[in-house]
Amino acid sequence: MNKKLTYQELETQVVELKEQSALLQQQLELANQIASASLETTQLLQTLVDTIPSPLFYKNTDGVYQQCNNAFAETILGIDKTKIIGKSLFDLGEYIPHELAEIYHAKDVLLMTNPGKQVYETSVKCADGAIRIFAFYKASVLDDDGQILGVVGVMLDVTELKKQKAELKEKNRRLETYSMTDPLTGLYNRRKFNAVFPDSLRAAKCHTQLLNFAIIDIDNFKKYNDNYGHVAGDEALVIISHLLQSKLLRTDDYIFRLGGEEFGLLFYADDEIMASQFVTDIRLAVQELAIPHKGNDSYRYVTISLGMVTIKRTDKDMLELYKMADDLLYKVKRSGKNQILAKLV
Ligand code: GH3
Ligand code: MG
Ligand code: MG
Repeated sequence: MNKKLTYQELETQVVELKEQSALLQQQLELANQIASASLETTQLLQTLVDTIPSPLFYKNTDGVYQQCNNAFAETILGIDKTKIIGKSLFDLGEYIPHELAEIYHAKDVLLMTNPGKQVYETSVKCADGAIRIFAFYKASVLDDDGQILGVVGVMLDVTELKKQKAELKEKNRRLETYSMTDPLTGLYNRRKFNAVFPDSLRAAKCHTQLLNFAIIDIDNFKKYNDNYGHVAGDEALVIISHLLQSKLLRTDDYIFRLGGEEFGLLFYADDEIMASQFVTDIRLAVQELAIPHKGNDSYRYVTISLGMVTIKRTDKDMLELYKMADDLLYKVKRSGKNQILAKLV
């Protein structure tokens, strides 16, 4: 039933309505402000992600792209963003090879079933047709209740980095080989000897065979240079080095050029007799090279002398063993050349 309002009552209602209208106006302004701020934020974020040179993307739990940046659209797929958003990996078969899509999808599924972060490297076929290696940094996106909404990913092109790393590794390997190798003969040098001998001494303790260390010295080599010249001397050193190298039997037997016309031989033998036979064979083989050497006493060819220690049960270190072999060599040289003096220690 309609009740007629008094003028007073109408007046009051008008005031109330005006107040409500003012309040609504205020709220509208606030909403506009928020909307424009949020638009600004969205634009800011979009500009920001588009400025980032690394490809970025966001997919929902169905694997459908919700967002991506220019780098992703341009460098990875080579198509406009609008053609990506709303599509899955498999919808983009024209741009993403199926076998690669399978790999990415499996990784997405893993991240959705185990929310958290994920980092891995894989190949990517880029818009220019090149296959590059990318590091993927991915994370699951969760709502306030911890429910998974999707996954975000950032891709970092590591192709060049990997190439440089591999080149650096190869350079280091070559440098190490170079620093351990004698340039004239190609044999290991003294630096390598200093590194290998202590290791061999340790390993020898576990061997049933005996480790032997011999210093090999070319006889009257100064006279060889004097008679045939330094170049011929170098050539003789190379020929002898190749022969010594060819005599090694095991992978843990070594020959080194210790310096000048001196070589170090580390080898295993069953016993001291076998060791002696082994070095005698080497001594004779050098003589049989028949490199003419008229200044080599009664021997007409280049010969070598050796001082050798056969290491049986000793706690002597590398320097002590070296000195022992050197002393034996010194004795041999005094009593004549083209000989071997060996000792069991
Ligand atoms: P010994 O039988 O007592 O060992 O006499 P030797 O003349 O061999 O020994 P000495 O130590 O008197 O001389 C070693 C010579 O080796 C001196 C040097 O001319 C020669 N020699 C050392 N290194 C090289 C090299 O790289 N190339 C050449 N061609 N000769 C070298
Ligand atoms: Mg010498
Ligand atoms: Mg000599």
